[in-house]
Amino acid sequence: MQDNPVHVGKRNKLVNELRNKGIVDLSVLAAISSVPRHWFFPKDFEQFSYRDAAFPIGFEQTISQPFTVAFQTQLLEIQPNSKILEIGTGSGYQAAVLMKMGVELYSIEYIKDLLNLALPVLKKFGDNIKLIHGDGSQGVSKYAPYDGIIVTAGAPALPEILISQLKIGGKLVIPIGEKENEQQMMRFTRISESSVKKESFGECKFVPLIGKNGWNS
Ligand code: SAM
Repeated sequence: MQDNPVHVGKRNKLVNELRNKGIVDLSVLAAISSVPRHWFFPKDFEQFSYRDAAFPIGFEQTISQPFTVAFQTQLLEIQPNSKILEIGTGSGYQAAVLMKMGVELYSIEYIKDLLNLALPVLKKFGDNIKLIHGDGSQGVSKYAPYDGIIVTAGAPALPEILISQLKIGGKLVIPIGEKENEQQMMRFTRISESSVKKESFGECKFVPLIGKNGWNS
């Protein structure tokens, strides 16, 4: 897998674009500038990999738009060594960005074939990741509690179980909408055992979260 100066130049341009669109967290921008996004693209479509756009990765799924990856990651307010759960591994790109930020990462994906494609690419970013196959709409209780949970598919409503898997002070970043493909980016911060702060960060568009607490339940 190559990463040559042309790729680096395109990434620098992309990072400038993200900065102009309002991404201010320098650790997020540094991670985006160091992850070769073209490694996560289907071979014949590499030329599209540094556009600020989502792209199909097969199985009716997409690699998220770089702005969305940066925005969701920024909302997590990651500290060094944070323990993070990602729901929806997809191509693995978001996971690689989180790994570059030095987190202890757990990432769950529903579609086994996607997980098998992401695995060899993610290995290049180190060992600090546990990939899980299953229904992430129920979270992953085995490794809870987490400092942060990021959901990269659109949920019909808040899966309450995800709040229970957060540490006190932990954050859940999740797109929620009553309609498929039309959501609000939400952040829930667990203030105490029983109280949660809820914030909304505008409209967004994700493929549906499926599973028990998703659209097919
Ligand atoms: N984070 C991904 C990336 O960087 O490429 C983008 C993910 S894509 C927008 C959403 C992913 O969520 C898809 O791969 C889909 O299969 C997965 N997904 C949907 N429902 C899920 C569930 N209940 N559990 C785990 N993964 C799920």
